[in-house]
Amino acid sequence: MKVRFWGVRGSIPSPGPETVRYGGDTTCIEMRVGTETIIFDAGSGIRPLGLKLLGEAQGAPIKAHLFITHTHWDHIQGFPFFVPAFIPNNHIMIYGADHETMTLPELFSGQMEKGYFPIPIAAMEAELEFIPISEETLRIGDIEISSMFVNHPSMAFAYRVDCNGRSFVFGGDHEPYNNMLSYSKIAYQVDGKQLDIEENGKEKFSKKLDEKLASFCQDADLLVFDTAYTLDLYQQREGWGHSYPEYAVHIAKMAGIKRLALTHHDPTDTDEKVDAKVENTRQFIKASNLSIECFAAQVALEVSIE
Ligand SMILES: [Zn+2]
Ligand SMILES: [Zn+2]
Repeated sequence: MKVRFWGVRGSIPSPGPETVRYGGDTTCIEMRVGTETIIFDAGSGIRPLGLKLLGEAQGAPIKAHLFITHTHWDHIQGFPFFVPAFIPNNHIMIYGADHETMTLPELFSGQMEKGYFPIPIAAMEAELEFIPISEETLRIGDIEISSMFVNHPSMAFAYRVDCNGRSFVFGGDHEPYNNMLSYSKIAYQVDGKQLDIEENGKEKFSKKLDEKLASFCQDADLLVFDTAYTLDLYQQREGWGHSYPEYAVHIAKMAGIKRLALTHHDPTDTDEKVDAKVENTRQFIKASNLSIECFAAQVALEVSIE
């Protein structure tokens, strides 16, 4: 299994001299497992990924599985610029959640309607196959891909990939369970039982759902986690749907994770700020007597999971 980061930024692309090292593109992760191409999210990083796939294919048809954590702009805004989707005979399978008021294809085509974009989704001549999913496990050959709703002001998934005894989790956009943020009630079910924050109290509610998330991540060889904010900044932005490093380490510890990548860097995070976030997280891990390797997701960084 190989993972390559094409976009690591949250909210909006943030190019410029201060973000040149970690990169300014929004979320997109490429994963190669055997012959399969799996992509997580279609933030602006999917544009250069599309060009790379075209270069590799040299005219042969491209088949890719695109798993969308959720359809906030920073996770789909690159799709209209994903050139393989415009080329006949390519096959793009797009997995994600239907919303109550809009289906997955409507969510995707919406951003390409006339008022927002010059070319409609109908101009994409590849076979676009939309596959609505919930909390479930899919199989693609030898690969198992599982989805779990997380805590975000949308219907947002974390994804887990298992293949040949190796595993990878991308936690998507997620905030600690202090408030119920998701439109989806399933996000707050544990063992088929619906949990409510008022009835249970914040502490018990959070503990049970943290346990659910940790068991979803259990023993993954690499966990990529939303740490958009520092703890200080989080306290000013509670309810925005994102986490901070101490919480990422809390889940990593519960799940027995050995390798943790911090991602969804805030647009105001300069390279120096990301460096500082990583350094502070490493110190926190050490002070907590844990042994977890921690690094920041960075555009063009490739990680082998062997
Ligand atoms: Zn986001
Ligand atoms: Zn989001």
